[in-house]
Amino acid sequence: MLDTLRQPLERGQVTIHRAAGSATFPCRAQLVLAANPCPCASAAGDTACTCSALERRRYGSRLSGPLLDRIDLRVDLPPVTRAAWFDGVGTPESTETVARRVLAARAVAADRLAGTGYAVNSQVPGRLLRERWAVPRASLRLAERALERGALSVRGFDRVLRVAWTLADLAGRALPGTDEVAEALGMRLQRAAA
Ligand SMILES: [Zn+2]
Repeated sequence: MLDTLRQPLERGQVTIHRAAGSATFPCRAQLVLAANPCPCASAAGDTACTCSALERRRYGSRLSGPLLDRIDLRVDLPPVTRAAWFDGVGTPESTETVARRVLAARAVAADRLAGTGYAVNSQVPGRLLRERWAVPRASLRLAERALERGALSVRGFDRVLRVAWTLADLAGRALPGTDEVAEALGMRLQRAAA
């Protein structure tokens, strides 16, 4: 049933059909999914894991390709070590500091998008992104290669562009460069060892 999320994720609205008719509601949400790398929930490569390759693959396939194609940031989280747990390592910045940086980046994006009816990068249609704010081809080479070898879908390409713009806004850069595109692509192509 996770796949029913595809429409709201893509269109920002959800349509509910009932016998008496159908109704459409706004649905701009930030979806955060979490999954273990395998059914026994051991960390990837953990010797305690006894799951077979087939079991791991079957478990991973519960997140369908079309759904994953709509997930922009995929991050592997290594297990917290005991030392880090006690020392509090891993929280170098306060939420407040990060929030200030996010607000600043959103203000830059809102300035750029002024007059378009869009406020944040994630809302901008792919075509507008490619035509009006075209990223230089030289910066896109990695993403183009991923598209050619089938590792990236056309939808995924647009989503990489949006994330690259957000990374540029966060870094205070006027345009995404090779680094931002590579980072956006890396997060998209990353998938827990399944
Ligand atoms: Zn396992």
